Amino acid sequence: MKQDYTRLAFVLIISVFFGLIFGNVFLFLSMSLLLYVLWQIRVLNNLLQWIKNGKSQEPPDVSGLNDEILNQYENLKIRHKKRKKKLTSYLKGFKETTQALPDAIIVLGENNEIEWANSKAELYLGINHSLDKGQRINNLIRHPNLANFLNQKKKSFFGTERSLDLISHINSDLHLEIRLVSFGKTGRLLVARDITKIHKINKMRSDFIANASHELRTPLTVISGYLESFEDEFSEKELIEEGRRVTKMRTQAERMRRLIEDLLNLSSLETNEEPRHTEPVKIPDIITNIINEARAISGIVSHKFNTELDDELWMKGDRGQIYSAISNIVFNAVQHTPDLGNITIKWCLINNEGVLEVIDTGEGISPENIPRITERFFRVDSGRSREKGGTGLGLAIVKHILVNHKSRLEVESTLGKGSVFRFRIPNSLIIQKDIIDNIKPVIVEFIKN
Ligand code: ADP
Repeated sequence: MKQDYTRLAFVLIISVFFGLIFGNVFLFLSMSLLLYVLWQIRVLNNLLQWIKNGKSQEPPDVSGLNDEILNQYENLKIRHKKRKKKLTSYLKGFKETTQALPDAIIVLGENNEIEWANSKAELYLGINHSLDKGQRINNLIRHPNLANFLNQKKKSFFGTERSLDLISHINSDLHLEIRLVSFGKTGRLLVARDITKIHKINKMRSDFIANASHELRTPLTVISGYLESFEDEFSEKELIEEGRRVTKMRTQAERMRRLIEDLLNLSSLETNEEPRHTEPVKIPDIITNIINEARAISGIVSHKFNTELDDELWMKGDRGQIYSAISNIVFNAVQHTPDLGNITIKWCLINNEGVLEVIDTGEGISPENIPRITERFFRVDSGRSREKGGTGLGLAIVKHILVNHKSRLEVESTLGKGSVFRFRIPNSLIIQKDIIDNIKPVIVEFIKN
């Protein structure tokens, strides 16, 4: 900078000096300034050409302010080069790490278009990073469940990320668990994990439980039958003590029978992901029947039942399964609500979903136990549950029935105040009055057959 001022001052002094000698200071000043500007333009142009051509030429010989600009430019270039090197090495590390992962990783854009995929993605899902880049994943893997899964926004009840179990379309022996992880504003990572082994073990486990339960059922029926007839004999002969022992044995045999039935039920629900018999089910009638049964269990004065039922709302599904799911939560409400407590059952349409609620004023469930109550054999008070004849499998069965009907279970509860068990049934399974009127002839025909 200083050098530039000195140079300009020198040019001005020389021009004034010669201007005074030749008697025209103004002419000499303007001429020399013009030449100075032209020279500066030439230097700047050289600089620009050199920047444009990059490394191919020697840097121009400049001084002062231009030299400063040249130095700053060189520094910037060096910094940029270092950053680029660092980023390239990060990217290489990221690619090497993701390639080494045992899971398939696919980076998806806003519209589910493939941006990047690792090598396992080709092995598991037939997606090749270079060939399929830019294509929508649901165009390459045509599976209705995957399309729905990609569109889902919410996390599931109980707070966990949802996952989807899928059989690979390129290898039917390969069972995959698909998860979606969001990053940035719109990006998502699709992670596919090979769960073939876990799937096989689960299948073996559920086959084993089903077979064992099935084998136990016949001998148990025989034992129960004999015990029943013994019981009758003892009471006739008024052998009170002996009779009581047999009654105890029979109660335990009955408990085992219920356990076996529930285990068989559960394993059948697990193996069939969709209900086998689907028909229009009149939910208000089912609820009324269940309440009558529950009244019989709970006694005449014991509980007060209230209902708010939309009579014109039905659903499609397996009648037996739906009956079992509703009766499970109604009977649970009876069991966990003290005498004279209220049990309210609501059935209505909210936001296009069928919503069934069983609200009790019972003992309630503590927040830490709510996520666990659908686990098999989980009971808050196992001693009391057994005493009341509970198997600890009821809510596990309810959960499976709802999953098979693409529905959700929600539980809200306050300890000491009561609980709400809520089913949310998707609109696709809901039948409303005007539709019911249209299909009535079909139902009549169906029942006749
Ligand atoms: P169980 O055969 O013991 O009833 P479930 O699977 O039906 O088994 O229920 C699991 C546990 O959830 C029960 O043991 C009980 O502790 C709790 N539970 C279920 N329903 C209610 C309710 N309405 N109020 C309070 N606790 C409940």
